[in-house]
Amino acid sequence: MKCPLCGSIESVFVMNSKTQLQKDNKIFQFDSCLHCNSIYLKNPPIEDELKKYYTDNYLPYSTSKPWGRYTFIVNIWQSIVDSKKCKLLTKHTKNKKIVRVLDFGCGKPTFLKKLSNYYQGDFVGFDFSDLGWKDCQQQFLKLKLFSNEFEKIQEKFDVITLWHSLEHHFRPVELLTQLKSKLNSKGIIIIELPNYKSFFANRQKGDWGGLHTPRHSVIYSPESLIFLMQENGFQIKKILKYGSLDAFTLWWLGRASNYNIYNSLYPFENLFIKFCLLKVLTFPFFVFEKYLNLGVMTFVCEKKE
Ligand SMILES: [Zn+2]
Repeated sequence: MKCPLCGSIESVFVMNSKTQLQKDNKIFQFDSCLHCNSIYLKNPPIEDELKKYYTDNYLPYSTSKPWGRYTFIVNIWQSIVDSKKCKLLTKHTKNKKIVRVLDFGCGKPTFLKKLSNYYQGDFVGFDFSDLGWKDCQQQFLKLKLFSNEFEKIQEKFDVITLWHSLEHHFRPVELLTQLKSKLNSKGIIIIELPNYKSFFANRQKGDWGGLHTPRHSVIYSPESLIFLMQENGFQIKKILKYGSLDAFTLWWLGRASNYNIYNSLYPFENLFIKFCLLKVLTFPFFVFEKYLNLGVMTFVCEKKE
């Protein structure tokens, strides 16, 4: 496996990590590239094998369903996360009234739905699977949704968003080239993802939820994402040390992977009370998330002419 960012084959072992959020005893290896320092999955699953890690119970497709009777609370939480995304987008589109937005890796497209309440324009979602919307299409009638047919998207966009999506791609350079061709002049791209050079990545190592083993091909640090974006025709406008998803969630997901919960239809239901208690207890620490590198980062980049 070559480095997905620079193509070098020279790397050094960093850590092993077990499959996360699924019952599977496989061990995967992360290496550091000796050329560009990025951290990447050295023995990724083959493409067919990868599909079994994206079931309909996978969180971004199902969002609240795995929480069972607590679904309604998780839906409120998701709505708050979506509002934070809309606020960031508004800030960087200088309050334009009409925007054309592509959400790449949209999962269940609740963010685009919320955005379409505030703006006029085109709201297009793309994901490799339609599991996030196929059973509830009537909720998303204002959106254009595509699965596995990227070439069918004809529009050009003012904004492309990737919320915890870029790191799932095994060929990020190819992906950025495709996305760049879909951006208007001065169009922006917003990327939120786990930050490898962070407090919890360092503390939890192979168990950290930001690895999402084996679904994440590259575990980006600010330096490796700056390298990728600048090499591929983007100018960095802003780097934030936090995101719409909190660093607490990645820390907690890393802990949850060690519980034997994946035989259940609602794997997170019995963990909900523990989740809330831990959230309350650790609140004083996470309140400083905006100033510390705890686990999530956000990049806002502009297309270079
Ligand atoms: Zn490299």
